[in-house]
Amino acid sequence: MLISKNLHVSIKGHEILKGLDLIVNAGETHAIMGPNGSGKSTFANTLAGHPSFSVSKGEVLYQGENLLGMTPDVRARKGLFLAFQYPVELPGVRTWQFLRSALDNSRTSQGLEPLGVREFDKWFEKNRELVEMEPTLTNRSVNEGFSGGEKKRGEILQMLVMEPKLMLLDEPDSGLDVDALKVVADGVNYLRDKERSIILVTHYQRLLTYIVPDFVHILLDGKIVSSGGPELAEKVESKGYDWLREAPE
Ligand code: ADP
Ligand code: MG
Repeated sequence: MLISKNLHVSIKGHEILKGLDLIVNAGETHAIMGPNGSGKSTFANTLAGHPSFSVSKGEVLYQGENLLGMTPDVRARKGLFLAFQYPVELPGVRTWQFLRSALDNSRTSQGLEPLGVREFDKWFEKNRELVEMEPTLTNRSVNEGFSGGEKKRGEILQMLVMEPKLMLLDEPDSGLDVDALKVVADGVNYLRDKERSIILVTHYQRLLTYIVPDFVHILLDGKIVSSGGPELAEKVESKGYDWLREAPE
């Protein structure tokens, strides 16, 4: 699904990622943990095609193709999805309309017919109920006036409607109470299957008790310094990151 080889990424002349290697196969869920400022969002945003981040070295293959040569819309149409750490408000763009256009475009580029209004509405409603969002919220502009938790649920709603192949979730748990956390985790688990892959960026082990990853990686200063299974997340929870700083592998 994804191969990142020796990826170096800079922003405003500062090198943030310093040789990031990662292989994600179809069906796998990978968690990336690391302290603030270690480059987790930089990695997620680079994969999605954020124009502020420039790749100076290395390559990324997505389903065998050069991901970095694609514009963000092409990446999205090929099934890559990023749930933002800080979702943006889109005043004047209704959630329903936004997702209908997005799904139509994605389907058209895969050679499928767009869904009719009723069919789409049914699909939308089903997913809205899954994330327990009130219709009054989804009738508004995307994220406008939403609380932090509502924005995070909104990202999961987008993801459920789009059914991406590679899901990047950048701290989907930040600022959530336990109930909202469960809704988010249920939404992610609902889409897990042997054809889809997930890269889950998180600070806290707590989320990983709800979404149990196959692999856990620790990102420190722009590089993955340790990889393991879920037990690595527990070790970080109890010991912090300093032991990894002192003795990187
Ligand atoms: P993380 O998500 O792991 O907390 P980030 O990838 O957001 O880390 O940030 C890594 C580093 O890049 C930080 O030092 C941060 O200050 C810097 N950085 C991120 N975004 C920008 C930006 N838009 N402009 C300048 N520096 C940035
Ligand atoms: Mg971040």
